[in-house]
Amino acid sequence: QQRLYSGMQPSADSLQIGNYIGALLQWRELQDQYDAFFSVVDLHALTQPGDPAERREKTRRTAAQYIAAGIEPSRSTLYVQSHVPAHAELQWVLSTLTGFGEAGRMTQFKDKSARYGADATNVGLFTYPVLMAADILLYQTDVVPVGDDQKQHIELTRDLAERFNQRFGETFAMPKPMIQRETARIYDLQNPTSKMSKSAESDAGVLWMLDEPKVSAKKIMRAVTDSEGAVRFDRDEKPGVSNLLVIYSALTGREITAIEDEYAGRGYGDFKKGLAEVVVNEFEPVRERALELLDDPAELDRVLAVNAGKAASVAEKTLADVYDRIGLLRRG
Ligand code: ATP
Ligand code: MG
Repeated sequence: QQRLYSGMQPSADSLQIGNYIGALLQWRELQDQYDAFFSVVDLHALTQPGDPAERREKTRRTAAQYIAAGIEPSRSTLYVQSHVPAHAELQWVLSTLTGFGEAGRMTQFKDKSARYGADATNVGLFTYPVLMAADILLYQTDVVPVGDDQKQHIELTRDLAERFNQRFGETFAMPKPMIQRETARIYDLQNPTSKMSKSAESDAGVLWMLDEPKVSAKKIMRAVTDSEGAVRFDRDEKPGVSNLLVIYSALTGREITAIEDEYAGRGYGDFKKGLAEVVVNEFEPVRERALELLDDPAELDRVLAVNAGKAASVAEKTLADVYDRIGLLRRG
């Protein structure tokens, strides 16, 4: 069976609808066809400042939302990144093979460091893609399902795998990105030309999976549109309406043109009401299940510990090979 790897940062109390449409929906399907590893990448989330107690809580909440969205911890290896120390160890080795300029070209670093400002930008944010390469390569991963915002990081991962294999002998499997259609990228409802993110400065345009139904509906009703008044897909001229159409289509499985037809001659108010219903129906059961799981943190921690053990046994084998091949003296 082919190996699959993916993860999300526990950078907020709730995941957002872009994480659901761009990642979780596919993960749920793919876990049947692949030997799947799904990580809560808490080491990556350290690149943002945060309160320690809140951090721990966000990690649990993220794991609970994976499970609530249909990732089965008995079938997939669902674990917390920092529970497997090999991630940080391999990232150090790979960082010595990564060019400074090569890392500097990563657009996520450029975007995030510009957004945070010079004071809040840290070296961890710069080496983030190298840690991500370590995550993927440790598991001899064949495919990495990610949104198209991660394409460049997967390219770097492949370059590093090839570089290592060439210099030190065949060690890593060559991972392939499994990129969702461009239309699966979800934009901020208040700022429909920038990607919806857990870490957006304002959450007025972010639809959280754990939002109360009323709150989700309100955010949709207030979503930025345009003055034309026609429900029609046009990414350039009508980014707001197009984004809402994409969400509608992704959650219902209906073609965008069918949705345009349904709302032809009706205003944005009707369309938004329809969408709010779709979103609330989708998220209500997920939200309830997540909150239920969070009522029993000891049980959740137990499940995560079992899966961390499974992940570690794969990761440690790869790391031992790496240390041997690059010439670290093994402890006798
Ligand atoms: P952060 O702001 O902390 O980076 P994020 O919302 O971008 O959070 P990540 O943890 O970086 O989420 O990414 C988790 C997964 O969700 C990745 O596969 C990513 O491609 C996907 N993803 C994130 N945002 C979107 C979006 N707006 N549309 C589609 N997919 C998305
Ligand atoms: Mg992100």
